[in-house]
Amino acid sequence: MSEKKPVITVDLGGTNLRIALVENNKVINRVMHPTPRGAEAIVGLIAKQALELAENEVAGIAIAAPGTASPQMDRLSKAPNLPELNDYPMAAEITKQTKFPCIVENDANVYAMGEVFYGAARGLHTVVVYTLGTGVGGGIVLNGKLWRGVNGAAAELGHVSINEIGHLCSCGARGCLETFASATAMARLAKKYGSNITTAREAYEQANAGDKPAQQAFVRSGSALGIAIAAILNTLNPQAVVIGGGGSSAYSLLEPEIEKQLKVRAFPAALENFKLLKCTLGNDAALLGGAALIYETLETQAKAALK
Ligand SMILES: [Zn+2]
Repeated sequence: MSEKKPVITVDLGGTNLRIALVENNKVINRVMHPTPRGAEAIVGLIAKQALELAENEVAGIAIAAPGTASPQMDRLSKAPNLPELNDYPMAAEITKQTKFPCIVENDANVYAMGEVFYGAARGLHTVVVYTLGTGVGGGIVLNGKLWRGVNGAAAELGHVSINEIGHLCSCGARGCLETFASATAMARLAKKYGSNITTAREAYEQANAGDKPAQQAFVRSGSALGIAIAAILNTLNPQAVVIGGGGSSAYSLLEPEIEKQLKVRAFPAALENFKLLKCTLGNDAALLGGAALIYETLETQAKAALK
């Protein structure tokens, strides 16, 4: 991997924008800015910072962004958190300003690439990654390649149904996994069961201090996750599932409940040598994952060109 050119990776959030230079699987240099408003301002800032960080030539620029990426990975086809980027030709604009190839991908997908290629699931090739944050997202890597689905909409792992008449989800449906296992849901459940807390962090601290309602919330979150993961095991038979995102801080509380559900619901053959893992890269997963994504995309393009 040492002969590979460095990559510029961007973690574009609704609040902050982080840009890094990644070389030899490491973040070499990074900057952070508040995300400006307006598509041209966002693209202009990314291009300017990319040119400043790229000391020499780079293999490309990978942007992890909230929303659904187009199948061509050149823009967000749906961007509810950054509506100004809806269908805006981000990649082409950035390439015009920097002369570097650029790809745009869903942030949870890029995060998953990071954990699979450089983090918890390093060395494995078929892995499903869950991100537990304000919402629940994820990414699916099959035989070392990100599975995007036909329209780039695959791996919306938070929006599988656990309870068809459950709590209303951000997606408009009821009882999705997200309404049980996001950080928001963990706090809501703890309050509902009678815990005197406001955030998931407080619920976690209370649960560890022996507060029964808070503990009950993590049992519920963990069992919902276990039900969803059992379905994934019976569908894809992956080598591992990684639990990531801020909510993974509660891994020690969630893990026993996930295991319980897997024992009951997953097929024994799918559980053979299966690994349930906690993420290891923290916030850098999306920055490192962008490098893996650029290398994978360039290899695929090179192979296609040889045909
Ligand atoms: Zn949903």
